[in-house]
Amino acid sequence: MSEAPDSAAPADLLAASRAVVDRLQRAGHIAYFAGGCVRDRLLGREPHDYDVATDASPDKVQSLFPRTTGLVGKAFGVICVLERGVQVEVATFRQDLDYTDGRRPDGVRFVTPEEDAQRRDFTVNGLFYDPVADRVIDYVAGQADLAAKIIRAIGDPRARFAEDKLRLLRAVRFAVTLGFEIEARTWEALCAGAQEIAVVSPERIRDELDKIWSGPDPARGLDLLDQSGLLAVVLPEIAALHGVEQPPQFHPEGDVFIHTRLMLSGLKDAPLPLALSVLFHDIGKPPTFAVDETGRIRFNGHESVGARMTEKLMKRLRYSNEMLEAVVACVANHMTFKDAPHMRLSTLKRLFARPTFEIELELHRLDCSSSHGLLDIHAFLKEKRASLPAESIDPDPLVTGHDIMAATGLTEGRWLGQILRQIREAQLDGKLASKEEAIAFAKHLIDKA
Ligand code: ATP
Ligand code: MG
Repeated sequence: MSEAPDSAAPADLLAASRAVVDRLQRAGHIAYFAGGCVRDRLLGREPHDYDVATDASPDKVQSLFPRTTGLVGKAFGVICVLERGVQVEVATFRQDLDYTDGRRPDGVRFVTPEEDAQRRDFTVNGLFYDPVADRVIDYVAGQADLAAKIIRAIGDPRARFAEDKLRLLRAVRFAVTLGFEIEARTWEALCAGAQEIAVVSPERIRDELDKIWSGPDPARGLDLLDQSGLLAVVLPEIAALHGVEQPPQFHPEGDVFIHTRLMLSGLKDAPLPLALSVLFHDIGKPPTFAVDETGRIRFNGHESVGARMTEKLMKRLRYSNEMLEAVVACVANHMTFKDAPHMRLSTLKRLFARPTFEIELELHRLDCSSSHGLLDIHAFLKEKRASLPAESIDPDPLVTGHDIMAATGLTEGRWLGQILRQIREAQLDGKLASKEEAIAFAKHLIDKA
């Protein structure tokens, strides 16, 4: 279940995991690749990590390999082996004891490979592979579901979701990232249990959601979350976009939910900040909905209301500050783009210099193409930016406060700050090109005052 260090090349990961299996088998044990890595290999995808499952006890695993740690999960039968500089998780075949908290088993019992397969969540995740004999071991009919592209709970779906509520979201996540259908009984149980997702920690919910949004089909992810009832629990701000009407001349596509979904459908394996910005950009619309005296629908200030809501919900889901700041900035700024053709050069340059500009520009493009369809501002901004030398967008300042104080006898304070800002603006507007010109401009401003 661990994420392999990013530095390990796929071939090194595979070689190290194979070596671990080989060592265990030579010592007389059963040892297989297990779970996600088997699924991915059978699908022709590169696994991002390998999990090894064995009948050797954790103590035995530790005695067979010189470099191990049991810190992460020895109590759950998991030992981390360091092999050829790569970390490989080796888990003893196990069965989970009772789940009293709806998320983690109270403990584990060591069992046969077949029983270990039964405790796994979905049939396509329940496969083993023996890399020495080149043989798939399938106790759960997982290969048939892989071929048919089906996510099916192992055993009774209701019981499996009741045990561990994170599986509710995992089912949707695997369906979306693999492009699989969710089998009917599994789907029915998922819908029946959707409310229960509330007991899962915000971090785990966030991690699953992020894989959906930055995956190959986030719009389908939104649909499945919405139809199952999960969305209303994990992201009520998005569920609230349903039925929020918009002015038809700007939004012929329909309500705010439809608009947001349409934008998501333009994303495939998108960077997460972009996907989240798309998802949240209009969440300020429901609370700002109003109809003016001419009968036109307005959402005044929805971008700043939406930015505050985005901040709150991203804190709730424990996003990093870096991610939060980027997404909140995109939501807060998304309405300024419409004014771009009237902006002075200095304002445009500040826009181009923003760390989130690329994401904001793409957000703007999706916003337009998923509503009125006019892409003139997008084209204008792309051309304008291409026409400006990179070094002119955020150049070093021509002068410092000390330069101005030395040249004019001015002392520190508000007035100095204002002068520096005007110099900067004139520089970005292309009206000042040297330190001398900047000082002359400062003197002129002082004389004028
Ligand atoms: P990926 O790593 O690509 O997200 P994965 O299938 O490897 O997918 P992990 O979370 O790494 O998923 O878990 C490894 C394996 O452990 C799974 O394939 C599955 O067999 C089992 N597993 C993980 N989480 C659960 C769970 N909540 N309930 C039951 N089995 C689980
Ligand atoms: Mg995995």
